[in-house]
Amino acid sequence: MTLTIPFDNSYARLPNSFYARQAPIPVRSPHLVAFNEELAQILRVTPGDVHEMAEAFAGNTLPEGAEPIAQLYSGHQFGSYNPQLGDGRAVLLGETVGTDGIRRDIQLKGSGPTPFSRRGDGRAWLGPVLREYVVSEAMQAMGIPTTRALAAVETGEVVLREGPMPGAVLTRVAQSHLRVGTFQVFASRGQTDNLRKLTDYALARHYPSAEGPMGLLRAVRDTQARLIAQWMSVGFIHGVMNTDNCSIAGETIDYGPCAFMDSYHPNTVFSSIDRMGRYAYSNQPDIAVWNLAQLATALIQQVDDPEAAVEEATEIVHAMPSLIHQEWLARFRAKIGLTIEKDGDEALITDLLTRMAENRSDFTNTFRALGDDNARDQFLSPEAYDTWAEGWQARMVREECPKAVMNAASPAFIPRNHRVEQMIQAAVNGDYAPFHRLNKVLARPYVDQPDAADLRNPPTDEEVVHATFCGT
Ligand code: AMP
Ligand code: MG
Repeated sequence: MTLTIPFDNSYARLPNSFYARQAPIPVRSPHLVAFNEELAQILRVTPGDVHEMAEAFAGNTLPEGAEPIAQLYSGHQFGSYNPQLGDGRAVLLGETVGTDGIRRDIQLKGSGPTPFSRRGDGRAWLGPVLREYVVSEAMQAMGIPTTRALAAVETGEVVLREGPMPGAVLTRVAQSHLRVGTFQVFASRGQTDNLRKLTDYALARHYPSAEGPMGLLRAVRDTQARLIAQWMSVGFIHGVMNTDNCSIAGETIDYGPCAFMDSYHPNTVFSSIDRMGRYAYSNQPDIAVWNLAQLATALIQQVDDPEAAVEEATEIVHAMPSLIHQEWLARFRAKIGLTIEKDGDEALITDLLTRMAENRSDFTNTFRALGDDNARDQFLSPEAYDTWAEGWQARMVREECPKAVMNAASPAFIPRNHRVEQMIQAAVNGDYAPFHRLNKVLARPYVDQPDAADLRNPPTDEEVVHATFCGT
């Protein structure tokens, strides 16, 4: 069999100013370490032999039909505007239309310098590549919109980070790589024509039933609102919600310093560069609204009647907090087994969360244990649970099948930080067994898997990961 990818490229048909033509830069001795067959089938990708796939997914050879480009974008990084970012260590090979009718980008990440690399080397090391592979596939399995991982290759080269590290390339798959920052770059340059073309492209590709820039804004708001609520519901902290990492398609994108919380606290931050806690767990809804406001500002640059558009955009953005809140409430209701809506539900949920924070309860295990009736063990002071549970039990009387509802809303397995770090350490030493095991278990996050009970444990004091890094 030879590797075939039925490319059907559309982004490369947009004006030249949207990207730079850039082939991946070959690497010394690529070695395929992971290939996602299930995703390949959806993409209509026919796998080739291992050697051929290593060459292709390292960027040493270009599959027929690939038109490699590095995409232009800009964005707000930690609140300040950077007028030009762009793919500095990635190239888009092209797109396929999958068996599900969905068009997706196939991108190599870590494939060498591009015109947008600035001072970077255009490369990635194995750690962040495997981290993104595992975490993005886990998000997919949890039912949370996300970019995905098709392949990972070790390059046989060394990249310099904190020290010399093994180089790697990830093949990332996304419904598109359109970001808020893709709109911002044309808006800030006053390139109204390009902005209009981009808006039309985004509407046609992602929201064909929406109309015009304000229709796009509303559609992005709705998908982002759902996404953020889903993150909150599994204790996910993205870590770097810059506008260039905010997808127009509403997928989780850019798994840099992201992490899942172990013990619950609303102010949790992992990213070593997020010193102010801008992207802390509980700030994520506000940041999503802030990012949408940046999209609104960019989109407005193309309308003929800005005054009316500003009014409409303001109304669209202002409605976002309550949409996120509704999505949040729906998910947390399910997490405590409620299907019937009642007035006191929100107070019941926030009371539980307050007690969890005070008792350093493990976020994932506490919610999962509610369905198994043994959540009190998760509290430093079990009475804190008991007094909450009295009210909860009283409220549950009319609920039909709460355990099933709870277990479908609260995964048993998440990619815990310490497990991800241990997996990376093992892979660096040539042992891929933990990587494969994590992928296998995390593919069924809502199913109790007794053999994998160790992967449910929070970290011991020695295992705790205090900070995560972008890995750039
Ligand atoms: P990120 O933090 O991944 O969102 O990246 C922010 C910007 O830095 C993007 O323009 C990236 O392409 C660029 N970048 C990150 N790492 C590298 C690298 N190793 N080489 C070149 N550019 C990079
Ligand atoms: Mg990024």
